[in-house]
Order: sequence, then structure tokens, then C-alpha cells
Amino acid sequence: MLTTGRFAPSPTGSLHFGSLVAATASYLAVRQQGGKWLLRIEDLDKPREQPGAANHIIQTLHAYGFEWDDEILFQNQRIPAYHEALAYLQAHTYPCYCSRKHIQQQGHAGEYGWVYPGTCRQQPHVPSKHQHAIRVRTHDQPICFTDAVRGEYCQDLQSELGDFVILRADGLFAYQLAVVVDDAFQGINQVVRGADLLDNTPRQIYLQQLLGLPQPAYAHIPLAANAQGQKLSKQNLAPAIDTHSRVKTLVACLHFLGQPCPAAHEFPDTTTLWDWGIANWNMALVPKIHTQPCNKNGLTP
Ligand SMILES: [Zn+2]
Repeated sequence: MLTTGRFAPSPTGSLHFGSLVAATASYLAVRQQGGKWLLRIEDLDKPREQPGAANHIIQTLHAYGFEWDDEILFQNQRIPAYHEALAYLQAHTYPCYCSRKHIQQQGHAGEYGWVYPGTCRQQPHVPSKHQHAIRVRTHDQPICFTDAVRGEYCQDLQSELGDFVILRADGLFAYQLAVVVDDAFQGINQVVRGADLLDNTPRQIYLQQLLGLPQPAYAHIPLAANAQGQKLSKQNLAPAIDTHSRVKTLVACLHFLGQPCPAAHEFPDTTTLWDWGIANWNMALVPKIHTQPCNKNGLTP
């Protein structure tokens, strides 16, 4: 079967070193197997979107020599498909009218945030026009999968998270539902992404099971951190990568991913570097966690 992978950034800011690492890992993992690599812009959360960021991300990837197959998929054009999935899941969902305050008072703080106490599951509301979220019922059977980097990972959705939201009270589809619907639509069978999404995966597998969709293979790569030990992210204003020292930055990505890549001066251009990466990529060398801080070019100070 043809391997199909993807990179799916949110246009909430420019590409930073951490997202370039994720793009590189997913790209090499599929290209080495002669597979397809797709690009998806996860632009569902319009309020958090930064104008021009999607274009900037696409141009930066292009400048770095990434080549994607097919048209770029934009999630904001996929709303009808999410509605269809929501309707299909109806027997497993219910409306939730709880405020954040109620959940914090009645629920308890878990490892992944507030565990929903199940209020609206136990006392169903007469459906009304009041703003409400849609939650999916969970069960107490652990959901486990084997991650290519992290090994076996299990979560009991009911006790660790509670019934979770698939349509937000503000009318936006939750990431968990959109990503599952789109991975299936694009035929993605290999997901390589940052470890911050590891604990989202059981929810996604559960939705795949309810929707009768195939489960991709998963690999969660370590997150890049800044000198303060914080994950590089748009939220903590990780600097955008520049396109001046592309070979150097890509070599830093490969080193970050544990690959024994020769020094940057060995490569005259990004093409020769990608050739090396495709020929030599080895997922087994990717470290489980990374503790070394790095600057915007992924170089340790
Ligand atoms: Zn509720």
C-alpha cells in the first residue's frame, strides 16, 4: 500500500523551528518509502488565525524545497464534511450546556485538563436554541496504540478526559473531529507530528472507530524547546525561521531528529540535502524526548 503522510500546520503564526522539524520528519518518512506527502492548512479557528500566515507558511516550505503532492487542503472548505460526520455520530453524542465555571466546580483537574463530570449526559436537556457544545460519549475501556517513537501509549478516555467536545459552543468544529475526517479523506496512513499531540491520539482513534475509518500509523517526534525549557510555539512567540540559511537549518533539524547527517558545508544546496535525507532517514534513531534547548536555527547555544 502506498504510504501517504501529511504536514498540517495552523496559520496562527509563521513557521518556527519546531514546526519545520515536524515537516521534515513527516516528509522524509514518506519520501523514503516512495509515498505521497500532502499539505493541509488547519484554518478552522478563524479567531486565532493570523492574516497572511497560511501564505507565509506555504512560501517558506517551498523555499526549503518541500514538494507536496495534490492540491493543498484548507479545512475551512471542509465544513460540510464535518457536518456529515457529526450527523453520523448522532447516536453517540449529546448537547452540553455547561459553562466552563460549572465544569471547573463539578469536574476535577486531570492530567490533560478538566475532566468533564458528565452532567448533561446524566440529565439530558430538552434541546434548545441556547448556545451549546456537542460532546461524544466515551467509555472506560483503555484505548491503546503503538507509537513508532514513543512505544505503547494508552488512555482511558472516560476517567482521564470525560466525554469530549466535537462541536464547540461557539459553533467551531473541534480539532479532534476535523483531523480524523480529513486524515481519512486524504488517505493518510502515516501521521508523523509533534509530541504535544500524543495525548490527543486516543480521542482521534476513538472517533475513527465510531466513524468506521481506518487508523493510521502514528509517530510523535520530540518537541523543540527554547532556553527556558518551554516548547517552541507560536503562543510563546518562537521566532520564525528565515530562508537565508536553509541548508544549515535543515541539517539542524536532522540532528535534532537524531539522524547522523553530515555537516552543512558538505551540501551545496537543499536538493542534495534532501537526497541524503530520503536515502538515510531512520525513524528508529529519533529520540523519545529532547532536552537540549535550541535557538531559532535549531542550534544549541
Ligand atoms: Zn454539560
